[in-house]
Amino acid sequence: MLTLKEIKKDYVVAGKPIPALNGISLHFKENEFVSILGQSGSGKTTLLNIIGGLDRYTSGDLLIDGKSTKDFQDSDWDAYRNQTIGFVFQTYNLITHLSVLDNVEMALRLSGVSAAERRSRAIQVLTEVGLADQIYKRPNQLSGGQMQRVAIARALVNNPKVLLADEPTGALDSKTSKQIMALISEIAKDRLVIMVTHNSEIAKTYSDRIILLVDGQVMEDSHPQEAVIEQSGKLKTTKTSMSFFTALKTSLKNLLTKKGRTIITSIAGSIGIIGIALVLSISTGMTNYVTELQSDALAGFPITISKSVSTDRFGPGANGPLNQNTNTFPTNSIITPYDRQEATTTHTNIINQAFIDYLNAMDPTLRNSISYSRAIGIHLLAQTSSGGVIKVVNTAGTSFFSSGTRVISEVPNNPAFILSQYDVLSGTYPTDYTKLVLVVDENNRLDTTVLEALGIELAEEYTFDDLIGKTFKLLLNDFYYHEVAGVFRPRTDYEVMYEEPSSITLEIAAILRVKKEASSSLLNTGLGYSSLLTDFLLENAQTSNIVLAQQSSPDINILSGNPFTTTVTYTTVMSLIGGDSTPTGVQIYPKSFDSKDDIKAYLDAYNEGVAPANAIIYADLAETISSTISGLIDTITIVLTAFAAVSLVVSSIMIGIITYVSVVERTKEIGIMRSLGARKRDISRIFNAETIWIGLTAGSIGIGIAYLLHWPINVIVDNLIGVKNIASLTITNGLFLVVLSIVLTLLAGLIPSGIAARKDPVVALRTE
Ligand code: ADP
Ligand code: MG
Repeated sequence: MLTLKEIKKDYVVAGKPIPALNGISLHFKENEFVSILGQSGSGKTTLLNIIGGLDRYTSGDLLIDGKSTKDFQDSDWDAYRNQTIGFVFQTYNLITHLSVLDNVEMALRLSGVSAAERRSRAIQVLTEVGLADQIYKRPNQLSGGQMQRVAIARALVNNPKVLLADEPTGALDSKTSKQIMALISEIAKDRLVIMVTHNSEIAKTYSDRIILLVDGQVMEDSHPQEAVIEQSGKLKTTKTSMSFFTALKTSLKNLLTKKGRTIITSIAGSIGIIGIALVLSISTGMTNYVTELQSDALAGFPITISKSVSTDRFGPGANGPLNQNTNTFPTNSIITPYDRQEATTTHTNIINQAFIDYLNAMDPTLRNSISYSRAIGIHLLAQTSSGGVIKVVNTAGTSFFSSGTRVISEVPNNPAFILSQYDVLSGTYPTDYTKLVLVVDENNRLDTTVLEALGIELAEEYTFDDLIGKTFKLLLNDFYYHEVAGVFRPRTDYEVMYEEPSSITLEIAAILRVKKEASSSLLNTGLGYSSLLTDFLLENAQTSNIVLAQQSSPDINILSGNPFTTTVTYTTVMSLIGGDSTPTGVQIYPKSFDSKDDIKAYLDAYNEGVAPANAIIYADLAETISSTISGLIDTITIVLTAFAAVSLVVSSIMIGIITYVSVVERTKEIGIMRSLGARKRDISRIFNAETIWIGLTAGSIGIGIAYLLHWPINVIVDNLIGVKNIASLTITNGLFLVVLSIVLTLLAGLIPSGIAARKDPVVALRTE
């Protein structure tokens, strides 16, 4: 069955080979009970380990069924141990945290036997060794003799051809020794048993053959056997295999037997995940907050296209082909002269129908609204409380930013956008062009000049109802202007005009106030009319007498009777009286910072291939604010990411160390598993499976704690700086972190599990 040919074994101690076995040649039959006797240190254990494939010989050969093992790979030895050999040790070598049944089943797990069969076979062999009623006990609840019976049951469960026993009764009293020896004799009836002992009494009583070892050499052999003829070819071994699923179940079982420890490990591992989760949730909350803040800020800062722009005035902020500022902050020490007059050119943006069509074709999801400024005058009459009638004088100027002095301004026709920025304090937001809105400031105040201009008598305070429903008369061109000798002049007999039936009644329908959350104001305070009203006026003006008259006299300003000048041109007059409906300015309100860039790209695309004179130059006044904010966000993100990275590293190192400690602590267990035929891969699998479980638990605990921490963080931050929900973690992010925890723990455990797998089984078994 087994043949040893000139086996030598040297142990290398301090760089020098120390011989433990000095050329041993022996042959063992299929069925005999051999005792190996010898003094302590004579090499008995070493010989047994080499026979059992637990240790490697330095030279010589071990023949199994006549076939050499010289070419054996690790996996061949593993399979050999698992299927052919059963080990019984002096110190039992049971896995203390597993039950008796699980200890016996372990050998079967390694060979991939199904759960049901594992169980029945383990129970059967435990019954054979007389432990049927002890199977759920832990090893430390058994006596020495019982533990050795478990070890024997474990050695027999795979029905091995060879049982190797290293001083099996060495730790037992004489009575128990006899029982164990009786059991081993029984086993020896139908297989090869090689037993190491230093008790010659026992050897003589029970065994068929006694071999005496002295200093690593065979001194005596009571029944030497003829060596069989060496056969060529390689011994066939069925490779052992433990599926990863079994490894997962085995490791879960391991962990469950040490719940307290597992939980503490997981909590330690979860600290990093908590850190990352909090960083992630706070940065999510911050991003949400900042996005909201930006969108609010942008509401007040549209991209503006004015009729005329001084290209120098807008400086680097104005993009476009006319403004290529390439040489800012030169590093050389040269000063260059330049002609400011020449450098500052006034560019006229041609806002024609083609451009408007182009703007209308823009992706509507990019913008909140586009509004057009027009020069057409709005002629409103208001009745004062004393009964007099005044004309509502609107402060001149089309600039969007001259707020406060304007009395009446156009409101972009985008109710949803306006209502996202403004609260309706009273009334209903109008959809009809005959309805007006009154915009008050954040303190519910109105400028006295505005009130006076609207013909409202000054009072200490007004109720909403005092102002809601106030009416104004809108005068159309044909009635407002009257012709005197070819010159059109505005009428001034306001009391009469107010009663004129052709005038259109406008009414204040709603009072608006900027929302608390909106950080800048989009509308001017005062009276606001819908852009629909402008459209109506323009349409009406097309056929009005004054427009027709101006069209027929292209050289004379119909309002004054004088020729046009460079400042008062045909176009400006036509714009004013509504004959020319092209806007004098455009304001585009982007949806977000990102969409603003898209809008700018869209505008730049319009300029491509267009002569510089016809290009559109826009101003982006929010850009400076934007770059400041985004710089800030970048900084915060980098800082938070650095924190997260540190947490990540700390967490991984922590788990790595914990796994390593666990490896060190379980060295003996690793040795036992290897003696049962576990492959290196099985060992690393079990440890990897354990780290996966720990990663899963750590991740879950971490996410749970992070979610719990959200509540105090949000309450504190809300109280301190009034920002709500600064910490918010999405479920996707939570799941991602659990997976990350598993991956990181697995990675951190790879080195320790590799160390575990590479442990020499003989050395591992020796550790206590
Ligand atoms: P026995 O089992 O007969 O008491 P061993 O086989 O354990 O003896 O040991 C044989 C010799 O080999 C002893 O001198 C022992 O010190 C030495 N030895 C055993 N294992 C090692 C090892 N791992 N490293 C170095 N020397 C060892
Ligand atoms: Mg020994």
